[in-house]
Amino acid sequence: MKVEEIFQVYKENIMPTYSKVPLVFVKGKGSRLWDINGRAYLDFFPGWGVGNLGHCHPKVMQGVRDQISKLIFVPNNYYHPFQAKLAKELIYLSFPGKVFFANSGAEANEGAIKLARKFGKGRYEIITFENAFHGRTLAALAATGQKKYQAGFEPMPEGFKQVKFNDINAVKQALTEKTVAVMLELIQGEGGVNVADKDFVLALRKLCDEKNLLLIIDEVQTGIGRTAKMFGYQHYGITPDIMTLAKALGGGLPIGAMIARRDLSDLLAPGMHASTFGGGPVICRAALGVFKAMQKEKILKNCQNMGEYLLEKLKLLKNSFAVIKEIRGMGLMLGVELAVEGKPIVEKCMLQGLLINCTHDKVLRLMPALNVTKKEIDKAIGILEGVIASEAKQSCF
Ligand SMILES: *Cc1c(COP(=O)(O)O)cnc(C)c1O
Repeated sequence: MKVEEIFQVYKENIMPTYSKVPLVFVKGKGSRLWDINGRAYLDFFPGWGVGNLGHCHPKVMQGVRDQISKLIFVPNNYYHPFQAKLAKELIYLSFPGKVFFANSGAEANEGAIKLARKFGKGRYEIITFENAFHGRTLAALAATGQKKYQAGFEPMPEGFKQVKFNDINAVKQALTEKTVAVMLELIQGEGGVNVADKDFVLALRKLCDEKNLLLIIDEVQTGIGRTAKMFGYQHYGITPDIMTLAKALGGGLPIGAMIARRDLSDLLAPGMHASTFGGGPVICRAALGVFKAMQKEKILKNCQNMGEYLLEKLKLLKNSFAVIKEIRGMGLMLGVELAVEGKPIVEKCMLQGLLINCTHDKVLRLMPALNVTKKEIDKAIGILEGVIASEAKQSCF
């Protein structure tokens, strides 16, 4: 199919749920993507947070290739060795407990919400935060504290209360005898790369312990090394009661996982919750490939080093351009808050071969693969600098 034809077929046959960029991609490797015309792009937002190892990592491909040649699917009433292996790895890397496998972030969060309600025995309210993002299914959407995503789909399922992020008193004021859990991202990704304060998270942990509430941490975007630790909570010296994962866990294939601490982890007994595809053999091989690569290639160390390098470069840009208001984030999850709309900058970067994202209107989000190189960062910064300079000139900054 030719490019114009592809656009036309999408228009006629696919629901218009995404605002789309007119690029057709056919190949990827590491931090590079190639479009249908053979043009290469530097991808600094691979797969919306999926591509922590970049595109088509050999360790992921190897596991997947091997598995599809043997057995593609096993339903969850049987056993297979690689689900066992992946669950063991996840628990080893996180905290004592058990895993439930799903297929996406929203689904992992739905599972967490159901588990919290089961634990609550009648207590069901979950406190979430303004500008949070937990997914698009109805309960996850109710947990998502952004009206722009909820508009038109009311009524939202009951039992969610949004309060101000990083404000422990707001949480305390929202508590009722029905409250069962607090759910949050440690860095709000879609909400503008807002980092949770350490004091706030410690206070939340304490509050949850005192009131017998579950602390649910949504690590769908921050997990799997994105912040230079395997999971974001490991920066805070706390352990969640429930953690959810998805995005980068499958190295590009769909998976979600909910991990609950040991004394909660048998509450969902046979028949209470399920997923047909959750934790199938192919995806488990992909995820095991991700962890193998992370270990063998010292990915966390590279994320730490390249995160510091990118942050330093961005700070230099901030010193040169008043249009940049703030740089924030952790590891290789960095936000550049602008005084202007970010969309024109994203578009101009794209024309010059650099793919980035803008979230919350004014925050450029950079989340390159964790195995990104200095050279790639230099190239990206060069493009970004040129674009911001030309924008700044136009808007008199
Ligand atoms: C992307 C995301 C989700 C939703 O994941 P899907 O796989 O799209 O359902 C949930 N929580 C966070 C923090 C996310 O970034």
